[in-house]
Amino acid sequence: MLTVLGSTGSIGVNTLDVVQRHPGRFQIFALTGASQVDLMLRQCFQFKPRIVVMAHKEAALLLKDKVKSEGLSVDVQSGDQALLDVSSNPEVDVVMAAIVGAAGLAPCLAAARAGKRLLLANKEALVVGGGVFLAAVRAGGGSLLPIDSEHSAIFQSLPEDPKTWDARVEKIILTASGGPFRKRDHKTLKDVTPEEACSHPNWVMGRKISVDSATMMNKALEVIEARYLFDIAPERIEVVIHPQSVIHSMVQFRDASVVAQMGTPDMRGPIAYGLSWPERITSGAQALDFRVMSPMTFESMDQHGHPERFPGLRLAWDALRGPAGTTAILNAANEVAVASFLARRIRFDQIHWVVMSCLEQLNPSPPGELDDLLALDRQARFVSESLVQRLPLP
Ligand code: NAD
Ligand code: MG
Repeated sequence: MLTVLGSTGSIGVNTLDVVQRHPGRFQIFALTGASQVDLMLRQCFQFKPRIVVMAHKEAALLLKDKVKSEGLSVDVQSGDQALLDVSSNPEVDVVMAAIVGAAGLAPCLAAARAGKRLLLANKEALVVGGGVFLAAVRAGGGSLLPIDSEHSAIFQSLPEDPKTWDARVEKIILTASGGPFRKRDHKTLKDVTPEEACSHPNWVMGRKISVDSATMMNKALEVIEARYLFDIAPERIEVVIHPQSVIHSMVQFRDASVVAQMGTPDMRGPIAYGLSWPERITSGAQALDFRVMSPMTFESMDQHGHPERFPGLRLAWDALRGPAGTTAILNAANEVAVASFLARRIRFDQIHWVVMSCLEQLNPSPPGELDDLLALDRQARFVSESLVQRLPLP
């Protein structure tokens, strides 16, 4: 039985696309969304979930009316507790975590503690949760599988036994497309509009991760995600620009051999892998055709004006050197800054200023449990909101 957290989003829709290719293999226990009532209603028709959770109460009420008048038997709920319940229900084996942002942390922890197979797209949850998240996975005795394409690639390239990783692996090489502004004159980044920032050259994704890809904060979050998922020192994680997004990431071993995972840029690949691991099932993704493929190229991060162009990337290593909880502050400040940019309240280049200023203002004490993390998240949001208020309208 499968729960899909964030089923109305880009990863959620792709997950259901893989599910519908395998009739009888996956049963849907619960689907969750925030406000998209009509899409959720269509998903209810097609996937017959037992429970639906809508984060927004009005959306839940509206959906309740609609499912009733359509004669569907779905239990429509809302609220934080409902999200925890569908993530930890004893009938559920697998939870796809595809909520965007720190809002997904509590349900992820609930699934981890309950020993589920947790498919993690929601990287922010791990960036915020860090060691607390991993401890919950260990205590629950379930598994944590990456859905982010880079981390799925690394997981597919690593030896099976995690106990051998430290001795065998020299470094992890994360590939990055460089986003839509890889070659744009960095002096004009202040004029970037939300529409420009959301039009990624290779991937169609939700708006928040699209902006993160344009600032390369997405790659910073992924460095932190890799550090926790693979228990590897931050200095052994490297980023290289690979504009075609064919190699999804690589592992370099002690003997200088490099194992890379390749595919077309289609999230259904890593989703199908997570759903079926250790088996392989069809995903709907097109295979690469090497006879007609354009050349694969690579660029060092310095070639394109990093750090002027992508000042946020190095914050990953800085935050990982800081006290535990620093990555939670980084994430919260970035979420506030990106939302403010999308609402046209701040300029694109000010996202970094908000994040940096928030990191400078707050000194975290090491988080012991979820409540500490949530308190730190709230505090960082408060500080970031007030930083945003200080900026003049663009
Ligand atoms: P999206 O914006 O398309 O979807 C987000 C989902 O979360 C929606 O179902 C929405 O209803 C739900 N949601 C939003 N706010 C919520 C809240 N406060 N409470 C409960 N539910 C809420 O985002 P996406 O692109 O699907 O990304 C989801 C996650 O997967 C992100 O963490 C992202 O970084 C990660 N990810 C996405 C991709 C991709 O290709 N889209 C690739 C790798 C990783
Ligand atoms: Mg990724």
